Amino acid sequence: MKEALAARVRYYREMGIYDFYRRDVGLVASMDEAAEAQIPSAQDSVRPDLFEQTPYEQHSLAEQDDMAARKTIVAPVASDVTLVVAKAEAGVRDPVMALKMIREDIGDCTRCKLHQQGRKQIVFGVGNPRAELMFVGEAPGADEDQQGEPFVGRAGQLLNNMIKAMGVAREQVYIANVVKCRPPGNRTPERDECDTCSPFLMRQIAVVKPKVIVALGAVAAKNLLAVQSSLGDLRGRWFEYRGCKLAVTYHPAYLLRDPRQKAETWKDLQMVMKELGLKSPAKSDE
Ligand code: URA
Repeated sequence: MKEALAARVRYYREMGIYDFYRRDVGLVASMDEAAEAQIPSAQDSVRPDLFEQTPYEQHSLAEQDDMAARKTIVAPVASDVTLVVAKAEAGVRDPVMALKMIREDIGDCTRCKLHQQGRKQIVFGVGNPRAELMFVGEAPGADEDQQGEPFVGRAGQLLNNMIKAMGVAREQVYIANVVKCRPPGNRTPERDECDTCSPFLMRQIAVVKPKVIVALGAVAAKNLLAVQSSLGDLRGRWFEYRGCKLAVTYHPAYLLRDPRQKAETWKDLQMVMKELGLKSPAKSDE
């Protein structure tokens, strides 16, 4: 137990997390249960509050100011322990610099097994650091691993067309993945890989602060929303994700396999366009 705890603390340190505060989270007994306890039902349209603001009343005024300045976020990690995330980029106003700091934190990452499974490079994210619209995919494929940029292969071409059909350019949006290294043979990233890597995505989102996030496919949706619902249940509605609106749609790679779902995808994108006040220049055709 002690060793496991020490390993976890070391892991959080590596991620730039130093401070731990004690908070009563009732009868919740483990991290999984903590997560489950806060997961809404499939009918609930609000993201579970896995990352919520620190309860201010537990801290001195000086601490409160400091915490507000550092934009701390809090997550339940064990029975009654809450961790406060002191991010390297906290307090850095320039999103370009802040993203750079996150990238530097990732370094030549060896935190999960993917670093030993043939990845060529880490694929961090691309686009406008002040984007109003952000797309989140699953993990890099072969082309992305080769070029170091998300969505540059066939699925990327289709995503580009989807973006264009929405009346925006790829350069105007921000694109990232839940997992930053290519899983071997393009397999679906495993739970531990997603859990290890997704905090970096959350930090990217916190820096870019898009108005709208589009989760592409089930891996992105389930990791961001921490729900187990089917894609069908998640599409066509809005979720709240840490101050952003989040919509779910099909992954472009899935659309390449089943182009009949493009019409449904277009409905999802139109919902996003309405929210952002975007006008379509033309109909979405691949
Ligand atoms: N699929 C993804 O989910 N992400 C990429 O970057 C490329 C393909």
